[in-house]
Amino acid sequence: MKATVITIGDEILIGQTIDTNSAWIGQKFNELGVQLHEIISCGDSSEQIVDALNRAKSTSKIVLLTGGLGPTKDDLTKKTLVEYFNTELVLNEEVWERMKQIFEKRGKEVLEMNRSQAMIPKDGTMLPNMRGTAQGTWFERDGVVFVSLPGVPHEMKHVMEAQVLPRLREKFDFPKIVHATLMTAGAGESVIAGKLSDFEAQLPANIKLAYLPELGVVKLRLTGSGDTDDIKAAVEEQKQKIKTRLGDLVYAEGEEKLEVTIGKLLLEQKATVSCAESCTGGFVSHLFTSVPGSSKYFEGSVISYSYDIKEKLLGVNNTTLNTVGAVSHECVAEMLSGLLLRSGTTYGIAVSGIAGPDGGTPDKPVGTVWIAVGTNEKQVIRRFQFFPSRMENIRVFAHAALNMLRLFMLGKLQ
Ligand code: ATP
Repeated sequence: MKATVITIGDEILIGQTIDTNSAWIGQKFNELGVQLHEIISCGDSSEQIVDALNRAKSTSKIVLLTGGLGPTKDDLTKKTLVEYFNTELVLNEEVWERMKQIFEKRGKEVLEMNRSQAMIPKDGTMLPNMRGTAQGTWFERDGVVFVSLPGVPHEMKHVMEAQVLPRLREKFDFPKIVHATLMTAGAGESVIAGKLSDFEAQLPANIKLAYLPELGVVKLRLTGSGDTDDIKAAVEEQKQKIKTRLGDLVYAEGEEKLEVTIGKLLLEQKATVSCAESCTGGFVSHLFTSVPGSSKYFEGSVISYSYDIKEKLLGVNNTTLNTVGAVSHECVAEMLSGLLLRSGTTYGIAVSGIAGPDGGTPDKPVGTVWIAVGTNEKQVIRRFQFFPSRMENIRVFAHAALNMLRLFMLGKLQ
């Protein structure tokens, strides 16, 4: 089952309004088992809307239009649809009464211009918009459903959820869609794709694998579609195959942030953690503290940006800093030991690197980071090389540090 979304408005074409409506509708259609075939954005012009409608109906059984219903745009979409479907506008008393009440409550006089919004196409079904004055309309022609929706996002969502989605479910027999998500950290999209290339080749035609990389983690989403309940078991079977194949790279099932997974591990182990952060400037700590309830395991951090603070608050050796420098194996080792000694937490993380854009040298280019994780008894230290961009580096360094701690806690990091 295919659908097309037509978004209407010059403001979208000139980049003044970002088309979030299509993205939201795309997600809803995906959950429903409808394939969003195309998104057409057209300007405030009847000609363009008619072109878009003709194109959409040649490929899709469902055509959704958003925007262009307001009085300021002279009800462009409504007028165009009325001509397109060869019908006429009639006053809908229910809408008109509701509109008068809304204006009365706001202490405003209802204008004649507003009356046009209570005019509904005769051959269409009015879809009430309880959040605004632009009503939706549902038309059916030659087996194709056409729905016109308000452009204001919260009004559009309301009419979709209250009216359009239930009607679509009633009218069409959608296939069952099942999603399964695995979260991975510690390898980029291409490394993971390499590990899964023959797995992908054996996937049944009705199960698809999507790679959704974000900075520091890669989300893998399996989507299965079918007519029976077997599809759930089939997707689960493929998910287990990926888990076996990727091993420790998988940190969670279902959508979950790395810091949430680590928080759960720390709670399970009744352990605590603290950080010594240089180049990440507190970003690792920010990730920890963005999880509700993190005060049960996150004790605090030292943001030791300068040599001085590294020495004074963490006890890093002056000689270390002046010989091998702050971005070194030795420095993060001393930052971690000093941190654990002072904080008394079970685990510690120390990060020192060059986020950029300046400060790189031939042997320590921008994107170099040293990370130490461990306990009083054991430390594991690694060097990584990431990107040239500062904010990307800060995020990726922080995720690399969290992932090292996760593996260390699981006894998988030697
Ligand atoms: P009105 O709000 O004038 O009664 P309407 O609901 O049909 O009419 P438009 O006039 O087309 O909507 O747009 C109203 C506002 O909704 C725009 O200013 C814009 O902020 C927002 N909007 C419109 N289309 C989109 C879209 N595709 N994505 C996100 N926002 C949108």
